[in-house]
Amino acid sequence: MKTDLHTHTTASDGKLTPEQLVDSAARLGINVLGITDHDTVAGIPLALEAAKRHPSVIVVPGVEINCDVTDGELHILGYFIDAHSAQLDAELERLRNSRRERGSRMVAKLQALGMDIKWERVQEIAGSGSVGRPHVAQALLEAGHVSSLRDAFDRYIGRNGPAYVEREKITPIDAVRLIVKAGGLPVLAHPADVPDLDNFIRQLKTAGLVGLEVYYDGYGTDVICDLLGTASRHKLLVTGGSDFHGIGGEAGGELGQPNVPESCARGLFALAGKTLD
Ligand code: AMP
Ligand code: ZN
Ligand code: FE
Ligand code: FE
Repeated sequence: MKTDLHTHTTASDGKLTPEQLVDSAARLGINVLGITDHDTVAGIPLALEAAKRHPSVIVVPGVEINCDVTDGELHILGYFIDAHSAQLDAELERLRNSRRERGSRMVAKLQALGMDIKWERVQEIAGSGSVGRPHVAQALLEAGHVSSLRDAFDRYIGRNGPAYVEREKITPIDAVRLIVKAGGLPVLAHPADVPDLDNFIRQLKTAGLVGLEVYYDGYGTDVICDLLGTASRHKLLVTGGSDFHGIGGEAGGELGQPNVPESCARGLFALAGKTLD
């Protein structure tokens, strides 16, 4: 079973709608598709509906929560969360509000730097979805201030850029707890660059972490072997995905890449007490 457990849609900063993403997955022969938008579950009902037209595709409802750590951030994935959980919804809404406020402050900084971009346009690009820096980057690109989305991050809105603004986030421990409370399975996303990973995993496991994303866009054999060892030492489920953001997107990989072993999907379903056939 071809598996991709990490993708984004227009519900956050992906380019394809949930329907288009499921259509693309079906075309590419992907059988297990995890939808993991940043700080929102709004795309899930639409994806589940679309999957009815494609019996070969099983949609795994998920979320990716951006968390604060010293000098950076890391991301916690949550699979099989209850997309109707009131507590999850309230907390994610708080995070989305902080994304909006931060987006408008970044636009103000860009304007102060002499750039002619408007917050209204950024909101239009983001639509009803979770506002992210890629939407600001797109507005900069349209206005001709940068040559690509990457250029926007490199020159202005990357972490050390002159128009970067921090936003309110939650701690990784709280994100893990939130996912568990919403009936989900928390997994540490793209962990290759996390400092002191073993120690960190030990802390997160006490809060309920069950998995590690081992197969990921750009991870070579050495990194994967290392992470497989880490997952095994801590008895964590192994998962993987592309972090696909969209055709022509500049973050994440191509849909269905890298190859994620079927055992990842089977392990996830088994832990969730679900069958996969
Ligand atoms: P945010 O969640 O608003 O902080 O924005 C982070 C998102 O921006 C990531 O999930 C990626 O989709 C995208 N991103 C981060 N760094 C880059 C980059 N250098 N070039 C293009 N997109 C990026
Ligand atoms: Zn993103
Ligand atoms: Fe991420
Ligand atoms: Fe992601």
